[in-house]
This record gives sequence, structure tokens and C-alpha cells, in this order.
Amino acid sequence: MKFESKAVHAGDRKKPGQFTPVVTPIYAAVSYAYDKMEQLDRVFAEEEPGPSYGRHDNPTTSGLEELINTLENGHGTVACSSGMAALHLAITAALLDRRKTVLAASAIYGATMNLLTKIMEPMGVETSFVDMCDLAAVEKAVASQRPGCLVMETISNPLLRVAEIDELARIAKSRGAALLVDNTFASPMLVRPIELGASFSVHSTTKYLSGHGDALGGAIVSDVEHAPIVRTLSRTMGPILGPFESYLTMRGIKTLALRMERQCANSVLVAEWLAAQTGVAHVYATSDPKHPDAATIGRLFPENLLGAIISFELKDAGRDEVFAFMDKLKMIVRVTSLGDVHTMALYPAMSSHRDLAPKQRQRLGIGDNLIRLSVGIEAVDDIIADLAQAFE
Ligand code: PLP
Repeated sequence: MKFESKAVHAGDRKKPGQFTPVVTPIYAAVSYAYDKMEQLDRVFAEEEPGPSYGRHDNPTTSGLEELINTLENGHGTVACSSGMAALHLAITAALLDRRKTVLAASAIYGATMNLLTKIMEPMGVETSFVDMCDLAAVEKAVASQRPGCLVMETISNPLLRVAEIDELARIAKSRGAALLVDNTFASPMLVRPIELGASFSVHSTTKYLSGHGDALGGAIVSDVEHAPIVRTLSRTMGPILGPFESYLTMRGIKTLALRMERQCANSVLVAEWLAAQTGVAHVYATSDPKHPDAATIGRLFPENLLGAIISFELKDAGRDEVFAFMDKLKMIVRVTSLGDVHTMALYPAMSSHRDLAPKQRQRLGIGDNLIRLSVGIEAVDDIIADLAQAFE
């Protein structure tokens, strides 16, 4: 089956009895009874498939996990209550039997940086940062620091750099390190990190996978080595996704391919339009042929599916001018998220990268004039018209 068909069918139509529900229902039950204790014993021992207790597994969530695992070509997927819970669990799994050292991309989501530096570091996990697009620098840092795990994003947030996942996987594996890729910005429609040699592909399913702004969630897709340990840790630590969110996320994923095609196509036109505006100092777009990582994008991404996030800098602007511009937006929603059907504008200095010191933001190239746009599925003319009136 092709990606579009898998997105519609995988994980569904499990037979609970005499009939087959066409989509996976919401199973709210916490515990699952069996006719014989012997059978429950086999289920607990994982010798027989089936749910036992809600922290271990849930039939709705299992359907979602099978769906995401199929789309990512993984060897096991665990759904979590948020993207951050998924990142925490995956890093914990990666470091369990390795050196407690992380080498992370310097361009990374603010909360991920906080997780590493403010929570895991005080607990003994040392973190250093490197430009993942500079393979020589990564090779050097891996050789000298011997990290247990490399952490990166497929498309970095918010400046949209794209590193060579397959080369980084090779470097990590040559030194026994795990490679964790946050694939939230790309979705498995664009890039499948496990196929490229990553140990983990992690998602905030809150974004493109769920796609409608109504279900927070996360997922860890693992390679064959790490799938069992992630499941075991999840069963003990319990960061699981509830059945209602699992249902909504599964429902959202059925249209992922359609949404992504439209969002990527809209983004190309919006980025070109923005680049032609006198009020815009710079546009960051993965569809830009002059993108610094254009060769990598061309190699790793499908043709015409180059991502749907655009960042741009307003000319001669600071926080006040950005606020005034964003306040003028009428259809585009001013919110802290991405990947939904509606177009969204976000101010990184205030939200995704708020907790970083201004100097740190500056060092990363996140200026006070930077706006991040998550392009939605609306008619592209309406998106451009809304931006145009905000420039007036
Ligand atoms: N990873 C990336 C790239 C994100 O943008 C986000 C949230 O914006 C997260 C992880 C965290 O996801 P969640 O908000 O579902 O915890």
C-alpha cells in the first residue's frame, strides 16, 4: 500500500467480537477481563496479544500506535501524552545503558533545550550543542565527547535548517550513540528517520499528525534495538496518551496526505510572495532553491513536498512592530502551535523560544523581528491577502 492508503487504513478494523467496527472505537475501560486467569497471565507476560491495564496498553491507543508505526516504517511505537513527554521518555531510553551525555543540535525547540539543560542536566545528564549541518564539527564532537545520544530535529525550529540524518546516523552508530530525530515539522509523509538509520523518530502529534488543533499528544517510533525498552519504560513511567486523544489523532491522520500536499503547495506560493515584499528583510523556507541545505532537502524530501513552515523577518522591526503586524492579521490565527489546518502565526521570541536569554536567541539567529508561519489548507489567495493587508 502507498503512504496515502496506509494513512487511511492502518491500525483500524480490529475485531472485538462478532462484528468489525469500521474505525477504531474509543475504549475508555482502564482494565480488561478475560474468561480464564491463565489467559490474563499470558497477556501480562506478552505471550498473547491483548490489553490488560490502561497504563500498559489501550485498544484505541494501540490502533494509533500501529498507524504511526506503519507510516514511519518503525519497529515499535509508543504514544505519549505530549510531544515533550515523548522526548523525555525517548532520551531516557537512549541513555539507559549509555554514557549520560547528550549532543544536541544548537537549533532546537526551546522546551527541548530546557528539558536537556534545566531538568536532565541537574540530574546528571551533560548536554553540549553543535551545528548538526556541519558534519565535520559533529564528527569531532562525537569523537571527543562520546555522547550517549544525539538529539536533532528534521527541520529545525524556527530557522528551518535540514541536516543529513543518514550521515548523522552513521556517525552516531560508529561510536555506539543513539540518534533521536524530532520529526514533528516534517511528518512521516516527508521524511522517515528510522529508514535513514535513526534510533528514534519522535513526534509532537499535536501538530501535523493530529492536524486540527484539538488533541495534544506525542509519539516515539523506535528502531528494532530500542522498541522493547521504550515500551517497558512507558509501562512503568506512565506518560501514556488517553483513548480520546488517540481517537482524535487517528481520525486526523487519515487526511494527513491531503493536508500536507495542500500545505506544502500553499507554502511555496506564500514564501515566494513574502520574498517579493519590501517590508520583508529575509524569508526562511525549505522550498527556497537558495536554502543553505537545498542539496540535502532535494536528497531526503519527496519532490514538491518540502515542508509547510515559513519564517520571515520584518524589515527594520522590533517587538512593537511585529506585534502591530500580527495584531492586524484577520484570518491567520495568532497562536502557539503549528501543523493545523488553519494558518498560524507565532512570534518565537515570545513563545517557542521565550525561555532563552535574549543573547542566546541572538546567537541562534532568532531576531526580535522574526515571525514563524505555519501554512494551512485555506485558499492560498486568502492567506496572501491577509498578509498583504497586514503590511499596509
Ligand atoms: N517538538 C517540536 C519541534 C515542537 O514544535 C513542539 C511543540 O511545539 C514539541 C516538540 C513539543 O510538543 P508538545 O507541545 O506536544 O509537548
